[in-house]
Amino acid sequence: MSKVLVIGCGGVASVAIRKCCQVSEVFTELCIASRTKEKCDALAADLAGKTATKITTAQVDADDVQQVIDLIRSYQPDLVMNIALPYQDLTIMDACLACGVNYMDTANYEPEDTDDPAWREIYEKRCQEKGFSAYFDYSWQWAYREKFEKAGLTALLGCGFDPGVTQAYCAYAKKHEFDTIDTIDILDCNGGDHGYPFATNFNPEVNLREVSAPGSYWEDGHWVEIPAMSIKREYDFDQVGQKDMYLLHHEEIESLAENIPEVKRIRFFMTFGQSYLTHMKCLENVGMLSTTPIEFEGHEIVPIKFLKALLPDPASLGPRTHGKTNIGCIFTGKKDGKDKTYYIYNVCDHQECYREVASQAISYTTGVPAMCGALMLLTGKWTTPGVHTVEEFDPDPFLDALDRYGLPRSESHNPVLVK
Ligand code: NDP
Repeated sequence: MSKVLVIGCGGVASVAIRKCCQVSEVFTELCIASRTKEKCDALAADLAGKTATKITTAQVDADDVQQVIDLIRSYQPDLVMNIALPYQDLTIMDACLACGVNYMDTANYEPEDTDDPAWREIYEKRCQEKGFSAYFDYSWQWAYREKFEKAGLTALLGCGFDPGVTQAYCAYAKKHEFDTIDTIDILDCNGGDHGYPFATNFNPEVNLREVSAPGSYWEDGHWVEIPAMSIKREYDFDQVGQKDMYLLHHEEIESLAENIPEVKRIRFFMTFGQSYLTHMKCLENVGMLSTTPIEFEGHEIVPIKFLKALLPDPASLGPRTHGKTNIGCIFTGKKDGKDKTYYIYNVCDHQECYREVASQAISYTTGVPAMCGALMLLTGKWTTPGVHTVEEFDPDPFLDALDRYGLPRSESHNPVLVK
């Protein structure tokens, strides 16, 4: 029996909300709140009569802490699920602290305005100290650790697939398969085809910023940064086939390096087709990925926001996308003094997702873990106060929930390793 406030009603939130409504015995009441209330109302109307969960909707601008506080005070939820954008992480965490409510999200904090001088000063210092230049990092949210601990509240960070399930796979490998882990390769393959020359599978702004940034990996206790897309490998993915994949910086590397300190190397690879990369390079070269506002015919325009308006809405890709995703982690390490390797992954079919929740697999593979993470918090499986990433909790009940609610794991004890 619990009341949950979901902030955001985009591609990922829609899946998470539909999945929560499949578990009405836990999610007894949901309030869907977002910037554009019409989207929340449309989803609530679509779910009416199909679930025992009692759904209400609200309008909120989550950039405004006071608006979130007012909403939490009037709704009195047990948990706030932030499935808006990474830009709102800190304001929503502040509101949760002010109201004494648990918090969770699916991506770590990143500022909307990367030209803000106060933010840039801290960012440039961090680039120097840590050695990677991504706009997002955990420092902003880890700074809330003591406040959440003292308040006896839990903040669960990054509970989608990657970050999220990939860290649960790491915790599972550490708990059941290895005494010590030497290397982790996280492999994210999308073998889906939506038929458009160019589209992104989730929020274009967040997605394009991520993949156009320099890559980096963790090795022997420090970050190694490389030019974007400069390390390429091929891998033959179960149920998808042979794909090109590229090394990217990814947020869970940072928390895994801290929480599994013996690991010598952590890398993240994502598959991209040549057409996607050519489009992205071209858009970057002409300045369309820029977040710096420009003046155009008397209007101020942020190029990447304008591009977002031109691109297909990721939520509309569902009916058109065919094929499968395959996301997982390959480990090397030692058990009982012997070398061993292990691969744990999930394969998800775009069309099956669409039939179940009217969405493609990228939103599905993020929304289902968000629901399962909320389930862990609401049913008392994950209760440690403070600010935590997924690998800090017991992976077993979470992976069992994923198996049950649509993202079952597969394993190999003799995987092909990535060179
Ligand atoms: P969408 O752009 O589809 O949805 C974002 C939603 O947030 C929209 O409903 C939007 O409202 C709402 N929103 C934006 N700003 C505000 C605001 N100021 N106040 C209230 N609501 C706001 O994004 P996705 O669903 O694709 O992504 C959601 C999150 O999931 C992102 O943080 C993304 O980074 C993360 N993600 C995580 C993954 C993982 O594996 N961990 C993978 C994929 C995504 P409006 O309709 O008005 O625009």
